Amino acid sequence: MGAGAAAGSAGSCSPAMRAALGLRLCRRPWGCRAPGAPPRPRCVGLGSSAAPPCWSCGGPVPGGQPRFCPACRSLQPPAPRPDLFRLMACDRSFRVDEQQLRRRFRSLQRALHPDRFGRRPPTERLYSEQHSALVNKAYQTLLHPLSRGLYLLELSGIQLAQETDSDADSQFLMEIMEINEKLAEPSNEGNLEEIETLIKAKQEQLTKEVTTAFERDDLQEAKKLLAKMKYFANLEDKLKNKKIPS
Ligand code: ZN
Repeated sequence: MGAGAAAGSAGSCSPAMRAALGLRLCRRPWGCRAPGAPPRPRCVGLGSSAAPPCWSCGGPVPGGQPRFCPACRSLQPPAPRPDLFRLMACDRSFRVDEQQLRRRFRSLQRALHPDRFGRRPPTERLYSEQHSALVNKAYQTLLHPLSRGLYLLELSGIQLAQETDSDADSQFLMEIMEINEKLAEPSNEGNLEEIETLIKAKQEQLTKEVTTAFERDDLQEAKKLLAKMKYFANLEDKLKNKKIPS
């Protein structure tokens, strides 16, 4: 999905479209080009993947994220709905190289940290804050198997339904109930550790199964497994709360 996935052919620019793309308005009564004439370089329809020009000097800025103007070096605003995999330089896949992800996260954080923009205009400081928040979100989303899987489904237009009992089979729900009951018992270190080991093992197993499902391109199976993972993530949260001494 490109940045300009919304349809529209190059050359057919309404003023609103051009304004949305940050392009200069064309004063010609017939629009940006005469019928039959080739599109002018700065007239870009929504179907094009060309990036908006620099907010500061108006010069062209190549695509990609994050973008810096090659002429005036100003940081450009983040894309409205960036592909988090592309932002983090990862393939769009459930398998991610965690080390590579971490390296990319650190280098982006360094390049975009608001402290680096302390002497820049307010617009750019704002953009650096927006980029930093986005990079954090992208890193967290892609690092954890559950959120990574859900994001991959979302990119394919699949949403996980609200947690309902019909999502999972009754045997699975019994298993969850049993762990819940164990968690409700008065806790001692021994039984909490036992539950923790169990939850971890289940999560690892599910992660393997989700990997296989995505590799087979079986998105419905991946969805079912991710719904199960969500139950275990909830149990993990409960366990963590229990471990905090009250
Ligand atoms: Zn510039």
